[in-house]
Amino acid sequence: MQFEDLNISEPLQRALIKEGYSTPTPIQAEAIPHLLKGEDLMGIAQTGTGKTAAFVLPVLQKMAELQKVAAPGVPRALVLAPTRELAAQIDESFGTYGQFLRFSHAAVYGGVHQGPQVKALSRGVDALVATPGRLLDLMEQGHIDLKDVEFFVLDEADRMLDMGFAKDVRKIVSALPKRRHSLFFAATMSKEVGELAGRLLTDPVRIEVAPQATPVERIEQRIFFVDQKEKNPLLIGLLQQKFLKRVLVFTRTKRRADRVAKVLTKTGIRADAIHGDRTQNQRTSALGGFKAGRLQVLVATDIAARGIDVEDISHVINYDLPNEAESYVHRIGRTGRAGRAGTAYSFCSAEERSFLRDIERLTRTKIREVDHRYHSEEAKNASGAASEPAPRRTKRPPRRAGEKGVPPGRSRRPGPRR
Ligand code: AMP
Repeated sequence: MQFEDLNISEPLQRALIKEGYSTPTPIQAEAIPHLLKGEDLMGIAQTGTGKTAAFVLPVLQKMAELQKVAAPGVPRALVLAPTRELAAQIDESFGTYGQFLRFSHAAVYGGVHQGPQVKALSRGVDALVATPGRLLDLMEQGHIDLKDVEFFVLDEADRMLDMGFAKDVRKIVSALPKRRHSLFFAATMSKEVGELAGRLLTDPVRIEVAPQATPVERIEQRIFFVDQKEKNPLLIGLLQQKFLKRVLVFTRTKRRADRVAKVLTKTGIRADAIHGDRTQNQRTSALGGFKAGRLQVLVATDIAARGIDVEDISHVINYDLPNEAESYVHRIGRTGRAGRAGTAYSFCSAEERSFLRDIERLTRTKIREVDHRYHSEEAKNASGAASEPAPRRTKRPPRRAGEKGVPPGRSRRPGPRR
């Protein structure tokens, strides 16, 4: 199947060809025909499946058909996203796919001054992408009115709920017109997600797509046993090889992300860090530099890396192993996107040995070991207490499953805070 078989309009097809996309991904092939008919949609799909284009293309096409122009502060399409990074990426997708259409688009999110956002709104924005908090702020100040929204997209609804946005979303939805076209996406289904979808959608089509392939099958994985203090020289040695072109390095803490980025920069490797303590402008600049190829390496914590969608990440390097095995799968899924091959290297010191066991159990694979100059037999053979991080003395009681930020039924393993 090709995009032209989906009745995608000519200007959108031209943009797709320019981007080098000729074949729709499964979610695009399934969702676009329903959306062009005006049906509501409930999509169960993860990042990396092409879900953004699955809603951006039909929304743009339908908006172009209607040939209206947005009044100042009164958008025609609203996309809600849980994080600033995701909002910025979706906004960029509107620009990419709509490059041959006359329409305006903008993103509003917190962490940056609202001035430029307000200015953009005052010029009229057809497609607005927003995070809930900033959107409500701007609505309360009278800069945005949702009365004319024809298309409403709620992206990553499950994460939205995890992040505590349920009330904000309800408030936003109550400001939308009753007659509208609604689209809803979530990576996972739960009772709460289902309830929210039920409230927003009218007689929706339900489409579920599996992630493109399981990372375990598609990504070349290697493990490096190494002492903690030798991780920097090992990392530098690896990064000096030419084929490690665009590398995402994961650390377990924000402080370590900064330290690693600094050490790399000192040795002449183009690197920057992205984590929750950096300002929005610093994050945008680091991500922009990485996307444009000015940076070879982006060092990130798990939370900061969520939703980052950069094509062609050649390698993911786990400088630290995550203390939750699921995070490993999310991390390495950042390479090998859209059918390309990717590689994941993981460093494992003695105190992380038990994390590796958890990961191998979850992925049901034994990750192949690399023989290298910093190899540590002690790390490889660590067991018992020596194979876990030393307990930290902390005044805060450990967080339990079910508390904010911790999925129900799952407890965090001991490990430093991110
Ligand atoms: P998403 O799941 O929306 O985050 O998209 C994942 C990646 O796939 C993005 O980098 C898109 O640019 C890319 N992509 C989207 N649609 C296609 C397509 N039909 N063919 C190839 N790549 C695509």
